This record gives sequence, structure tokens and C-alpha cells, in this order.
Amino acid sequence: MKVSPEAMEAAHLIDRLERLARAGEQAGGLNPAQWEALRYLSRANRFSRTPAALAEYFNSTRGTVSRTLASLEEKGYVTRSASRRDGRSIELSLTGAGEQAVKHDPLIAIAKHIDAATGGSLVDVLQRLRQTLRRAIAYNGGRAFGACYTCRHFRAHMRPRSATPHHCGLLDEPLSETDSRAICVEQEPATA
Ligand code: SF4
Repeated sequence: MKVSPEAMEAAHLIDRLERLARAGEQAGGLNPAQWEALRYLSRANRFSRTPAALAEYFNSTRGTVSRTLASLEEKGYVTRSASRRDGRSIELSLTGAGEQAVKHDPLIAIAKHIDAATGGSLVDVLQRLRQTLRRAIAYNGGRAFGACYTCRHFRAHMRPRSATPHHCGLLDEPLSETDSRAICVEQEPATA
């Protein structure tokens, strides 16, 4: 398939930004896989904070993810407990130290540059990036892990006065405002 020079330049720019973000990661005493896991756990909803979902998100093996999680537990950034939903599977959580580490995520510097360069007008950019990611995932195989509010199972404002006003039609679970922005292993885009 022929690729336009503009598309190639965009791919190079994304690659360059990614390298700059990686360079910032060296300062935190965590390797790139550990940063990825912390980011994932800070963004994923309660149905998705499992070793299996993490392995799927990374497109990695359970063994590799298990080693990353073990080192994060050793550093005191992550804990594991029995799932509140079924009691059989494991639910991973960030500790207070893990949450503090995420507040100093080197990716925040890149986000600040994006805000400065775009003046915060990102609706179109985000839509295009989501479409690009969706295509890349479809090509490579794998799940979207999109934000809950963009899911076809998301039912908004079903309980307007509640702390969990939204609902998941797939898992039949109440969802808070925070849940609606989290990423989910079961997410299916509302629009193709
Ligand atoms: S609505 Fe979709 S993204 Fe949200 S919890 Fe349900 S399956 Fe996951």
C-alpha cells in the first residue's frame, strides 16, 4: 500500500515524541516496562486491573508481565488482592507510593508540550489518533482498551443523582464519573 509523505512524517513525529518520553523515564529509577505498567494501572477500571489484561494490553507474555509486577511490588508501588467481583481472580492496585510516582510521570511533560502547541484544541487530533490506533490494533490483532465513555456498552446518566450515575450494559455494573474515563479490557468502540 502506498503511503503519503505526510503520513510518513506523522509516523516519524510520533516515534520521535515516544523517544523523548522514554529518555525522561531514565530519571525515575523505573524501566520503560515498569512505567507502562504503572500508567496502565492508574488508568484502567476495576474490571481491567488484572495480570491477564495487563499482558494483553502490552501484547506481552504472562511471564514477562509477572516479572514487571514482581519488581513493582518489591519497590512498594503495586499490591495485589482477591478480586472484589468474583474472588477468584487477582486485582492489582497502585499503592500511595505508586500514585505518587504516576504524578511525576515523564509523559506529563510531553502532554504539556501538546497543550502548548495546540492551545488545548485536541478533539480532532484525538479522534484521528484513536482511529489510527484502532486500525493498527485491528491489523495486529488485539483489544482496543479504549476509554469507557466511548464504549458501545456505556449507558450514560441512568442514575442522575447517584455517585455511580452511569452503567455498563455488558457487565451490568454501576459506573462512576471516574470509571467513565478509565480504560477497559472489554471496551468496544461505539463507532467503527
Ligand atoms: S461500558 Fe464498556 S468500557 Fe465501560 S466497563 Fe462496560 S465494557 Fe468496559
